[in-house]
Amino acid sequence: MQRCFDLHKQNDGRDRPRLPGAQRAAGRYDRGMPDCLFCGIASGQIPAKTLRENSRTIAFRDIDPQAPTHILVIPKEHDADVAAVPQAGHGLLDEIASLAHRVAVDEGIGGSGYRIVVNSGADASQDVPHMHAHVIGGRPLEWPPG
Ligand code: ZN
Repeated sequence: MQRCFDLHKQNDGRDRPRLPGAQRAAGRYDRGMPDCLFCGIASGQIPAKTLRENSRTIAFRDIDPQAPTHILVIPKEHDADVAAVPQAGHGLLDEIASLAHRVAVDEGIGGSGYRIVVNSGADASQDVPHMHAHVIGGRPLEWPPG
């Protein structure tokens, strides 16, 4: 099985590091740390600025915000990309969308508008191979996206 951080090393440079400072400086995780960054955040082993959480999803601030509001919403289970989430069944994709809207309302952009972006695969610049929805807003967003 290919590890998330192996994938980071193989990318074409479009991705930004997503590791917390200490791990980024060390260049690797210590023994016992999860292979997947977002699984580590979901389990609490890797710190994040968590905003909301329930039994199957968690929302936390992106460490490299692209707008005044930039939050990631992820399933706690490891689903590699958005295509894997509906296969998990039980309305998990609905829960992700619901939590995304909830944090947008919390941030005060529920009425002004926000964007939910799910990058899937290399050409879409999916930077961590654990499905994540970006909730972006707080400024006018252009269309089409880059
Ligand atoms: Zn994961």
